[in-house]
Amino acid sequence: MAATVLIVEDEPAIQELIAYNLQQAGHAVLQAENAERALELVKDALPDLVLLDWMLPGASGIELARRLRGDKRTKAIPIIMLTARSDEQDKLAGLETGADDYITKPFSPRELNARIKAVLRRRAPESTDDLVEIGGLQLDPVSHRVTTGSQPVVLGPTEFRLLHFFMTHPERVHSRTQLLDQVWGDHVFVEERTVDVHIRRLRKALEPAAQDHLVQTVRGAGYRFSEH
Ligand code: CA
Repeated sequence: MAATVLIVEDEPAIQELIAYNLQQAGHAVLQAENAERALELVKDALPDLVLLDWMLPGASGIELARRLRGDKRTKAIPIIMLTARSDEQDKLAGLETGADDYITKPFSPRELNARIKAVLRRRAPESTDDLVEIGGLQLDPVSHRVTTGSQPVVLGPTEFRLLHFFMTHPERVHSRTQLLDQVWGDHVFVEERTVDVHIRRLRKALEPAAQDHLVQTVRGAGYRFSEH
C-alpha cells in the first residue's frame, strides 16, 4: 500500500525530482509550491506524510508545520522538513515545531526514501508495505492477501483496510469516528453504523479460522484488535 506524500517545495526542479523519485518508490504524490497551496490540498484530502521545505515564499515551512500541528484534523500528519541549512539551531526549531524528521539538502533519493519509510513505520504503519502478523493472522499489503496458517481469508476491500489498520494499531480502543477517519477517509460522509456493518463482515470472514475473537467490541467506546 503506497503512501500519499505531499511535497511542499518552491523550487520546481527539486519538486519534480522528489516527485519522480517518490513515484518510482510507489508513492502517490501531491505537489504544492507554497504553504497556501499546501493548505488547499490538505483541505481536500489528508496526505500520509508531508515533505516540507523550510524556506518558502510567503509563509515559511515552519509556519506551515505549526499550522498543521495546531489543527485537530491535521495534527497527526507526519512531517519531514527539508532544508538547505545544516544549522543545528534550525534543526532544533524544526523538531520543536513538531516535525518528525529533518533532511539537509542535497540528499540522495535513497536517503529520502529511507527517512520516509522510517517515519511512516513509526507514525502511520498502515501506509507501509510491511507484512503484519498477529495471533496467527498474516496480512500482506503487497499481494493484498490475508492468511491464517496456510488458509486464505477472503475479504472485501473495506474489510481489508479495516483489518490492516487494526493490525498495525493493536491493543488500542478505536472509536467509530476514528475508524471512519482512518479507514474511510476524513471527508467521507458515512454513518457510524456503517463501521458496525463492516466489523460484522470482518468477523464473519475470520470465523472459519476461529480468529474472529481478535476483533473485540469495547462497550460504549468502540473496537479493539487484540489477541488477549
Ligand atoms: Ca525553498
